[in-house]
Amino acid sequence: MSKDRFQGCLVGAVVGDCLGRPFEMLRPTDERLSEYFFSFQEPNLRLPYKPYTDDTAMTRCVAQSLIDKKGFNARDMAVKFVKEYYTNSKRGYGSYIPIVFFKLKETHFTDLYGPAKRLVDGKGSYGNGGAMRIAPVALFCRDMDKEEMLRIAKEETLLTHSNRRGYNGAILQCLAVHIALHTLEGTLERRKFLDQLIMEMESVETCGKEELDDDEDELEYVKRLRKVDELLDRGTAVRVLEVEDILGTAMVAHLSVPTAIYAFLRVLESTEGQEGNKFQETIKYAISLGGDTDTIASMAGSIAGAYYGLEMIPLHLQEQCEGINHAITQATKLHKMCEGQNKMMQKGKGI
Ligand SMILES: [Mg+2]
Repeated sequence: MSKDRFQGCLVGAVVGDCLGRPFEMLRPTDERLSEYFFSFQEPNLRLPYKPYTDDTAMTRCVAQSLIDKKGFNARDMAVKFVKEYYTNSKRGYGSYIPIVFFKLKETHFTDLYGPAKRLVDGKGSYGNGGAMRIAPVALFCRDMDKEEMLRIAKEETLLTHSNRRGYNGAILQCLAVHIALHTLEGTLERRKFLDQLIMEMESVETCGKEELDDDEDELEYVKRLRKVDELLDRGTAVRVLEVEDILGTAMVAHLSVPTAIYAFLRVLESTEGQEGNKFQETIKYAISLGGDTDTIASMAGSIAGAYYGLEMIPLHLQEQCEGINHAITQATKLHKMCEGQNKMMQKGKGI
């Protein structure tokens, strides 16, 4: 049962990435998107295989490093990122990332956090690259103290994104996956989910105020989560352009992580087209928003997959995407590690 949700999370992230990629910076019409999804169900139609992008490439590195090192090891993680990038740099990486990877390689990984820290005149990047790859941390830390999970999420993100908005966005995405994973299927309520995220982000954002950018609100993510709540109150009457205007669909963390959470919750609550598959609808809706479609659909897909599980992800979608089996294998290993840690903890307590 819980293995299904680990697998759902990583497969959901891959499906969102692969299916979202062709629409990056476009905003497809509803008709175009319906045709796109309908075409996957046509057994005789051979469609071009959808390759994954940097989102999946880096998520795989995070998962593999946690598996290999049985925990967070900054050096191993950085080495894996760099190796992956130089193996295939044409996965649509953000503009700053190659600079970080080049410096890490050039300095033989002696200064792991320095290259990211020096970006953008020392302000660091606040792209959504930290958030897009964070799901394996939420899985690996399923049974750990939340503080420990947030520490790993932040340190892992700091390797490439040292701006407060960048790492706090990754923390928010990590929390969303974590809560979805821990909520019994069929019992997730939007208010409770958002209240929990707001409470956690309030304490995250109150610490580290000194790193605020000039144009940044101290409780940036808390405020954006409240906007998510307000939009959800209006149900499906909220139009795509309003979502773009209010929450954003850009490649930066604060204008995409709350958007992915909104996509997941909007479809969860929607009673329209009830016969439809909620996972598929989440991906479809996330893509319909336009902008950074692969990352927003991937983040929404990992939250939805962690909640609905692999069983809910239609095979005809999985079959379109590169890297599904690899995601299943990594999720299975992470799950096995969690179960093992759990047993050891129980033994230690004499249970
Ligand atoms: Mg991408």
